[in-house]
Amino acid sequence: MIVYYPLLHHIHTGINYFYGVVPLDFNKAVEFHGHVCPGIAIGYRVAKLAEERFRDRAEDEELVAVIENKSCSADAIQVINGCTFGKGNLIFRDHGKHIYTFFKRGDKKALRISMKPTAFPTDPRHTALFAKLREGKASPEEAKEFRALHEEKSQRVLDMPEEELFRVKEIEIEPPEKAIIYPTLICSECGEGFMEPLGRVKAGKLVCIPCFEEKE
Ligand SMILES: [Zn+2]
Ligand SMILES: [Zn+2]
Repeated sequence: MIVYYPLLHHIHTGINYFYGVVPLDFNKAVEFHGHVCPGIAIGYRVAKLAEERFRDRAEDEELVAVIENKSCSADAIQVINGCTFGKGNLIFRDHGKHIYTFFKRGDKKALRISMKPTAFPTDPRHTALFAKLREGKASPEEAKEFRALHEEKSQRVLDMPEEELFRVKEIEIEPPEKAIIYPTLICSECGEGFMEPLGRVKAGKLVCIPCFEEKE
């Protein structure tokens, strides 16, 4: 079965503000992300769902998000849920899957949100236009048509009933370890500092990962 995976289709659409009937904070996510697309709309729905389910947590209880793809949707989670790489409460696992797991720091109970692959049947016209646009071969009319379809899809994501879009499950997890501060070591090849546990040994010398992976 071929399904439409909006999150993996990242392109600048030229739509920087959404004029549809949307909640105010959706535009906050769009502003941060830089454009309107189905991916940011999905991320927004995920983020709002998590926000709602964890609304009763105490102010000092931090929400952690584990996301299993690197795409448009992640930006909505950063803006709406305040989960960021810098704070260490955004964890990325490169699985290319539409899975978003949320939990309170230190808690074993988690909310697992997975997007149903059936939520978006393939739209051959949208896909064809997307390919043309990416190759720079789309006419102005085709670009306009693509934007309309893209916007329509984003709107549909915002309006879809939750149960059509997501499978939501409460699960138990092993809470990830708290961030530890490691000493800095100096790479014997490039002379740059790196975090201790990420050191590698190459020909008996301590080096950083890029130097370790560099071809001779
Ligand atoms: Zn996007
Ligand atoms: Zn190095």
